[in-house]
Amino acid sequence: MEKSLFYRQTWVEIDLSAVGRNYRTLKKALPEGTKMMVAVKANAYGHGIVEVSRKLVACGADYLGVACLDEALTLRKNLIHVPILNLGAFLKSDAAALIDNDVTATVTDYPMALELNKVAGALKKKAKIHVKIDTGMGRLGVWHSEADDFILKLCALPHLSIEGLYTHFPSADTDEAFTRSQITMFCALVTKLEIKGVKIPLKHSANTMALVGYKDAHFNLVRPGLAIYGLHPTEALIGKVDLAPVLSFKTRIVYLKNVAKGRSISYGRTHITKNDTVIATLPVGYGDGYNRLLSNKGRVLVNGEFCPVVGVVCMDQTMIDVGHLKSVRLEDEVVLAGTQKDKIIRIEELAHLCHTIPYEVVCWISPRVPRVYIDKE
Ligand SMILES: *Cc1c(COP(=O)(O)O)cnc(C)c1O
Repeated sequence: MEKSLFYRQTWVEIDLSAVGRNYRTLKKALPEGTKMMVAVKANAYGHGIVEVSRKLVACGADYLGVACLDEALTLRKNLIHVPILNLGAFLKSDAAALIDNDVTATVTDYPMALELNKVAGALKKKAKIHVKIDTGMGRLGVWHSEADDFILKLCALPHLSIEGLYTHFPSADTDEAFTRSQITMFCALVTKLEIKGVKIPLKHSANTMALVGYKDAHFNLVRPGLAIYGLHPTEALIGKVDLAPVLSFKTRIVYLKNVAKGRSISYGRTHITKNDTVIATLPVGYGDGYNRLLSNKGRVLVNGEFCPVVGVVCMDQTMIDVGHLKSVRLEDEVVLAGTQKDKIIRIEELAHLCHTIPYEVVCWISPRVPRVYIDKE
């Protein structure tokens, strides 16, 4: 790890070589010619949008997916020139910047398409668009049975270039029948359009779960996010897909104290020591994204041994019981998520303890936590 310019004793390590490995693992499993768009929205799921995107571009990623124009502009300002799709909605105020920065817009209604067409015409450019189809997500998207008429109307707008058509699955991880019915609806639309002479170059639907579980959802472009970060959409997939963990969340012991049996730890006094023990204070809390739901439930690694979180997680500090360790010293490295010696604490484990999904756990890690990048390739 390079010497870094921060004093904080809590940090995240991002292994960019693992991003590369995961990208290649997924790519290898796809038929020749299938393109890959990687979702780098929400600061690349907390991993750092610029660094992760640079790595993905170096790996040959065809497209990047963002949630809003500002994320796309961050990429462009950092000289990332690959195609970028704004997966979110846009409003009138975004139109000129989308076109000027060559950011592909998701189009889902006619007035916005007209606006984009008008602004593109005035700029003497073409606006690249992907049309989003609702097959059951109920979010952005034109309802699939109305989509062919909608797209025929778009075809008449001279300053739009319809590059892509896509849909999204709400329950690829839990409901196979529903997901299959969505794939059928989407294919039916593609066929209807082709009969009417409309051939759209890129067709896509597969997030990580569909990429792994539904080959007929691949079309000619897949759209993973989670798996690129080495995370599994369901716990059942752990060990089944060969993904390398990318993010480690680390801190150091900043205080050690002998605590007698029967004393209370942290706000609300929810933990009372059962024996004479040693309590370590860690400089990390929910203000860093170490969730308060981990109070009295989480575990961390110190010197290759699991140690329980005791008492409630504070905004900036968390206590652990290290009384059972053979050796423990001030400044010892503590792994909140990641590996130490032969043991691992997965992001998926934290998600499970917090009754949520791994996506949210990595998004929690706040900007206060410095990101350190490692690339062994
Ligand atoms: C975030 C996102 C993805 C990526 O999903 P994962 O489950 O992380 O693979 C794909 N498509 C859309 C529309 C998204 O918003």
